[in-house]
Amino acid sequence: MIPSYPLFINGEFKESAHKDKILNPSTGEVLAEASVADRKDINLALVSARAAFDQGPWREAGLAERKEILLKIAAGILENAEELAKLETLNTGKPIKETTFMDVPSAAKAFEHFANNLNNYLDEEIISVSGDVEARLVHEPRGVAALIVPWNYPFLIACWKLAQALAAGNSVILKPSSLTPLTVLELGRIIQKTGLPKGVVNIINGDGESVGEALCSDRWVDMISFTGSNEVGRKIIGYAAKHVKKMIMELGGKSAGIVLKDADLELAVNGSLCSIFLNQGQMCTAMSRILVEDDIYDDFLKEFLAKVKRIKLGKGLDHEAQMGPLICEAQRKKVMASVHKAKQEGAKLLCGGKIPEAPELKGGFFFEPAVFEEVNPDMGIFKEEVFGPVVCIGKFSSLEEAVKLANNSDFALAGAIWTKDDKLARELSAKINAGIIWVNTYGMFFSEVPYGGFKQSGFGKELGREGLMEYTRLKSVIIDKTKDAKPLINYWYGF
Ligand code: NAD
Repeated sequence: MIPSYPLFINGEFKESAHKDKILNPSTGEVLAEASVADRKDINLALVSARAAFDQGPWREAGLAERKEILLKIAAGILENAEELAKLETLNTGKPIKETTFMDVPSAAKAFEHFANNLNNYLDEEIISVSGDVEARLVHEPRGVAALIVPWNYPFLIACWKLAQALAAGNSVILKPSSLTPLTVLELGRIIQKTGLPKGVVNIINGDGESVGEALCSDRWVDMISFTGSNEVGRKIIGYAAKHVKKMIMELGGKSAGIVLKDADLELAVNGSLCSIFLNQGQMCTAMSRILVEDDIYDDFLKEFLAKVKRIKLGKGLDHEAQMGPLICEAQRKKVMASVHKAKQEGAKLLCGGKIPEAPELKGGFFFEPAVFEEVNPDMGIFKEEVFGPVVCIGKFSSLEEAVKLANNSDFALAGAIWTKDDKLARELSAKINAGIIWVNTYGMFFSEVPYGGFKQSGFGKELGREGLMEYTRLKSVIIDKTKDAKPLINYWYGF
């Protein structure tokens, strides 16, 4: 019998009438089945979250109580880390090393960070305005938050959002991608044991068009925190407009890594490989354009290509695997179509870009990492997000040219700079249009550092103080403490 994952609504597990088959992308075989929320389940989640917020004890709980529960969730994740990493790998195909050392521990860290910084972030601020007038700035929860999560980092992104939403005192309805709901549904088991009041966290699974739309358009939802594609992001902005909801939009990217001639070549090559090929390139912050100063272009490309050709494709649970399969057949077809279009437009494919022939990979949605050169800014491959292991390598001869190429995008999510010159790195980072820039490294996310893009990569931040603030609303309370003062306004109409 394949395992079955129920919904988690109002503190209880609920098997629904309809269930989706969940595939293992490494084999194409059915891994589990997951309950899919119908209209009744969605309504129940909405009623539960609303009641838990309006009448429930969570938003009124002191910060010490909130801290205790958040730490219990973190501890629950760590206690179950091995199983969660395995399940995430089975459901997403990403190598077990990534889920074990990155996704799962980072998820626990987010809960720990917000638990340990609640006072620091949420204590009210008092401003002395004039004379004895004082303004208190109070961070209140926003209400019911719909948290909509993509399939590329299902557990980690869900935990980032959940840790912040709960730290701020909100009730939530969490919706994972219907391709990858398993670890997020499993989180319900950890949450149930912490003593969090019923209805504060509800986890419902289902496709975007039905479940996602129903949630995002409902008047009982006060805010939407969305991470996903621009296409869906635009739709959600439309749904949210009707009731004027607060939104965080973490959307797509087409980021550029810039390798300067003084860079440590080995570091730049190794870091650039991670910057595009981790998680099979299915990263919003993927450096899908790598721009190399012309003096070192040939050396960089030679090293880079040699290492790309050595990347070991394998099933997620294979400890030797450096790259797993893409998430599903539809995604593989999309990536293949981008590669095909790039070739037709005249880009030169240097390696990969096809389905591997190894018999042990048959059945899975594997795809050989592709490297293009001779790409120009008018080509689709330069402008459009592929969301797969496909990179364009280009050269530049001046810093102005590098900045112009890097910024020639509708997106503005992330950037990477490889150089030994700190001053130059600082100058360049000021000129790159992106919400996060890594210098001599890639992909380091810290719970204390806000993260979020500009332009069509979205708006709002996740993580850090600014991330948490997105999940709160700021109330100003102005108090006149003067005993005998007679501010003019109090006597305007009556003496
Ligand atoms: P997607 O937009 O297809 O789906 C994201 C989520 O939205 C899923 O849970 C899906 O079920 C839901 N959804 C789909 N249609 C909906 C609708 N009409 N109403 C409400 N919800 C709906 O994205 P994906 O394919 O899961 O993820 C890949 C995309 O996510 C890429 O574009 C990537 O760049 C982006 N992403 C961005 C970030 C970031 O932080 N900026 C991080 C990860 C992924």
